Amino acid sequence: MEEIKVFCPATIANVSCGFDVLGLALDSVGDEMVVRKIPEKEIRITKIIGQDLPLETGKNVSGVAGLALLEKSDYDGGFEIEIDKRIKPGSGIGSSAASSAGAVWAMNELLGKPFSKLELVQFAMEGEKLASDVAHADNVAPAIYGGFTLVRSYAPLDIVPIPTPDELFATVIHPQIEIKTSDSRKILKTTISLEKGIKQWGNLGGLVAGLFQSDYDLIGRSLEDHIVEPIRSILIPAFDDIKTNAMDAGALGCGISGSGPSIFALSKGENNAQNVAKSMEETYKTIGVPFDIHISKVNIHGVKKLG
Ligand code: ADP
Repeated sequence: MEEIKVFCPATIANVSCGFDVLGLALDSVGDEMVVRKIPEKEIRITKIIGQDLPLETGKNVSGVAGLALLEKSDYDGGFEIEIDKRIKPGSGIGSSAASSAGAVWAMNELLGKPFSKLELVQFAMEGEKLASDVAHADNVAPAIYGGFTLVRSYAPLDIVPIPTPDELFATVIHPQIEIKTSDSRKILKTTISLEKGIKQWGNLGGLVAGLFQSDYDLIGRSLEDHIVEPIRSILIPAFDDIKTNAMDAGALGCGISGSGPSIFALSKGENNAQNVAKSMEETYKTIGVPFDIHISKVNIHGVKKLG
């Protein structure tokens, strides 16, 4: 195979109680990317449509992640990349992660899969480091593994795939303001109280157990964030109203997607997810905030080959 076209999913990181460790992949929102082999040992980004992003290899996350893979590979050639960017950068649904994960997954396929998923996550994390100064894995891991993933440890990197209940749907609303991940990290405190820690790890354990047992009530009870949401939600227009109305409309839980400004809700079944979408739309229409909205099943495959 000389060329491959892939779907690179958007992802929701943190998922309320799992700051920097939990994430999930979406099905109906993502970029497309074409990667082809070239004889020269280099990465060239030849085309980006949809968004204004750098073509220079060292400034584009797909180039940086690709170089990390190339460095560990015994392949003599390189790759050319074309990106159809549908996820807006700075939206909080893993725009940079989709490009980093998509690039290395596609390259691995073209080379006959010499690298494991864990190694692909490590390469893709180099792209995340370029985008937000921190090599976090909570978006690139679900993009590569699919479904929900837990980053149990960063050193050494240990990724735990978590099963996804069949009827779990996400609703994501993106108010049209940009928050850079690097900026939204700066406002966080670096210490937490024991009291908050106890609540948070109780919820994280509860969420993981709820996902394993397809216990939707437990999932709902566990979707709470006592540490990051109270600080970051201040940056997001009408966060409290969106959340209250989404819960009234039947969401299991609602929180900030990644570093925001997107807000996500999880629901049991597509009908509930649609009702939640309506409530979110009405909330922003009433106060005049422009937005994009997505409803998606959880994507259990991650990056996938198209065509
Ligand atoms: P998101 O959480 O949506 O990925 P970030 O703020 O973390 O948003 O990352 C976006 C940053 O990464 C922007 O500064 C953007 O210019 C940079 N970037 C570089 N290459 C890409 C790419 N291929 N896709 C998206 N963002 C990219």
